[in-house]
Amino acid sequence: MKLLIAEDERELSAALCAILRHNNYSVDAVYDGQDALDYAASGDYDGVILDIMLPRRDGVSVLTELRKRGIDVPVLLLTAKSDVADRITGLDAGADDYLTKPFDTGELLARIRAMMRRRSQYVPGELKYGNIRLNRETLELSVEGGSSCRLGNREFQMLELMMSNPQRIVSTEQFMSHVWGYDSEAEIGVVWVYISHLRKKLAALGANVEIKAQRGVGYCLEIKPEQA
Ligand code: CA
Repeated sequence: MKLLIAEDERELSAALCAILRHNNYSVDAVYDGQDALDYAASGDYDGVILDIMLPRRDGVSVLTELRKRGIDVPVLLLTAKSDVADRITGLDAGADDYLTKPFDTGELLARIRAMMRRRSQYVPGELKYGNIRLNRETLELSVEGGSSCRLGNREFQMLELMMSNPQRIVSTEQFMSHVWGYDSEAEIGVVWVYISHLRKKLAALGANVEIKAQRGVGYCLEIKPEQA
């Protein structure tokens, strides 16, 4: 799950990013309304946490513009206690929910989960492909009737991306932006390193699924031919 945080208070933004990453979300942060609009309009996010009071363009106007363009990404608004009118305008403009500052991080996480549950048609807690199962709560990768192991956060996100649509080829750039974020300083070769970790784990567990490289295009999952 990839989230965009638009919050101009740097300390709050950094704290939110840390909490969300700790909870296995992939996160990008922007600090003004114009960037919020540009990033959110990319269609690259599963959800947006949008502060109302932002420089360059306020949160409600960002939201209004997104909905006008037909982008229906789930949006959680952050409001100050006094912004009752903004809150109503925000919900009218198509926000999914709002949270009043200061808020408890447990509540934020619960609101995000609830927002995702409501908006996604069906996000199963467990992804299946071939004989492998990936548990989204525990990050556990297991083979049906066999052993299992817990994946690291990035390995999990990469495999989740491939398993959510096994027919699709995921490009190195998509892995980079989804798992490491646009602003990451990670080198692109890191994708290959994580792919090789995942391959070793799949093989060690006795999976009948393998990660195929499509030269110059990206990676996808395939059920091994002899076991198909
Ligand atoms: Ca603000």
